[in-house]
Amino acid sequence: MKKEVKLVNFGVANNYFDCIEIHKDLPKFPRLYVPILKHEFGHEGLTTMGDLKHDLNKIPGLNYKEYYKFILTRPSTWVQYLPIWWHPKRGFVFDFQHIIIYTILILLVSVNVFFWMALWKGI
Ligand SMILES: [Zn+2]
Repeated sequence: MKKEVKLVNFGVANNYFDCIEIHKDLPKFPRLYVPILKHEFGHEGLTTMGDLKHDLNKIPGLNYKEYYKFILTRPSTWVQYLPIWWHPKRGFVFDFQHIIIYTILILLVSVNVFFWMALWKGI
């Protein structure tokens, strides 16, 4: 089943049970839009771990320089990188992949801080 694609004015691309939401400006940049849409449809039928792997892989054909320029010039896309955010129609959205990634980062930083403090204090 192909999901419906809806244009919205926040985030970059979000995949929901019933549809894919794409930022309204993205179709104006076909070099971003086409690879991102292909990536979103590539999520179909994947497990949670499969989705995570799919998102950690580079998006084939995506011009990352243009992509980061697109994001940096549009603050409304920044919710894409939040682990939890508020969607005007769906309420709280939990982005489990970002929750997992940020949890790992926080753990790594904590372990590092702990060891640096232990070294510094000479424990
Ligand atoms: Zn994805």
